[in-house]
Amino acid sequence: MNDAPSTQIIEPFRIKVVEPLPFTTRAQRAEFLALAHHNVFLLRGSQVTMDLLTDSGTGAMSAAQWGAMMTGDETYAGSESFFELQRVVQDLTGMPFVIPTHQGRAAEHILFAAAGVQGRMVLANNHFDTTRANVEYLSGQAIDLVIAQGRDPQSEHPFKGNIDLEQLEAHLKQHGASVLMVLLTVTNNAGGGQPVSLENIRGAAALARAYGVPIFLDAARFAENAWMIKQREPGQSARTAREIASEMFGLVDGMVMSCKKDGLVNIGGLLCLRDPQLAERARTLLILTEGFPTYGGLAGRDLAALAVGLTEVTDEDYLRYRIASVAYLFRALDKIGMPLMRPAGGHAVYIDARKLYPHIKPHQLPGIALVNELYLEAGVRGVEVGTLMFGRAGAGEAPDPSAPLDLVRLAFPRRTYTQSHVDWLIDVLASVHARRAQACGYKILHQAEVLRAFTAHLAPLAHPGTPGDAHVFPGK
Ligand SMILES: *Cc1c(COP(=O)(O)O)cnc(C)c1O
Repeated sequence: MNDAPSTQIIEPFRIKVVEPLPFTTRAQRAEFLALAHHNVFLLRGSQVTMDLLTDSGTGAMSAAQWGAMMTGDETYAGSESFFELQRVVQDLTGMPFVIPTHQGRAAEHILFAAAGVQGRMVLANNHFDTTRANVEYLSGQAIDLVIAQGRDPQSEHPFKGNIDLEQLEAHLKQHGASVLMVLLTVTNNAGGGQPVSLENIRGAAALARAYGVPIFLDAARFAENAWMIKQREPGQSARTAREIASEMFGLVDGMVMSCKKDGLVNIGGLLCLRDPQLAERARTLLILTEGFPTYGGLAGRDLAALAVGLTEVTDEDYLRYRIASVAYLFRALDKIGMPLMRPAGGHAVYIDARKLYPHIKPHQLPGIALVNELYLEAGVRGVEVGTLMFGRAGAGEAPDPSAPLDLVRLAFPRRTYTQSHVDWLIDVLASVHARRAQACGYKILHQAEVLRAFTAHLAPLAHPGTPGDAHVFPGK
């Protein structure tokens, strides 16, 4: 931390390599969006000025990481870059078996297959979508037991990612041997990037031990979680984020991780274990689907960059800036009256689009309305986390059943945008907020059977104030 006489938190880096932002006009954006069937997933990179679709694999690497890329060892078996990564991960987690994969979902698939999830249950705070999909694909059952406050967008509970320990114990008692594992997602991505407290991890680990069930972390954002523990949990402020992270890992039997988040790399995943027999089975599957155990689906240079990223991510100047920049956007939007999911999470701000647009019914996709308004306004890309993403196609003429919430997520790539980008974004959102009464809903023209949000074709509906079924759409 700098002791300069200022309360400002500045970006704790200077910029050595720059990439121009694509700038577009409103008329161009209207044309691009129409060509993309009004689904921002179908836009191209060159059409997006500020991309807040995801924080996964979209961050900037440091000079030290790029340096390590150059000296990465591409040896097929026994890459020195693997041994360096293994040393860093063992040091951080205390877990002896370090298995690299090409990304998080590969680690999940291998873990659930090797541990034998078929016919058994995984008890989590919330499963991330690929985690749930892997459990279910392998004929297991994914059960979410997040605390009640974690389901309430207005609750200011500091650890809304916590698992409900009473419900966890009830499930462990009732289902015993058919529980494969307890899994804590840190931070809780599906629940808005909310942290899990150290006390909760300790409590869940003690219960898991008592019932003889292993406990794992889905550790994609372990460093952001550790920082929020330091900030919010009584008795933790004097410890370093790294010490807290090491205690989190020390409490569990293993972890899966998408390194595209807190690994500070553009591609990579990890599976780490303490059980030698499970590690042996996992490595066998790894060879089948990813590659030899000393590279696991990654190039040697990727392993090298990851080893550096996992060291840099617990740097407190970085974490302070990271969490502060999300909170900065949150506070500014709160001030203009934007309805938000509370409190600010670690990697994203979530806007309650159903509340912002009370004239757009859930089956008319208020989240999509906001995502598309934002794109048309300034070329900013967010993502709908609502009825298009989680709802299912309705039967016949009935409107699609809606998701519990219609949110829009603005996710922050790591070390990528500066405060002036965020100030500009705040102006854009203020303008979208001011014109909220004019926004129109959408209907689905075409959708896939599963994961429809990624490929659906949509069309804007007439504004409820407009007579007839005329499609009002700028630029067409
Ligand atoms: C991103 C993510 C995953 C999946 O990882 P990929 O690298 O995208 O395959 C799993 N769990 C959580 C919590 C995630 O955020």
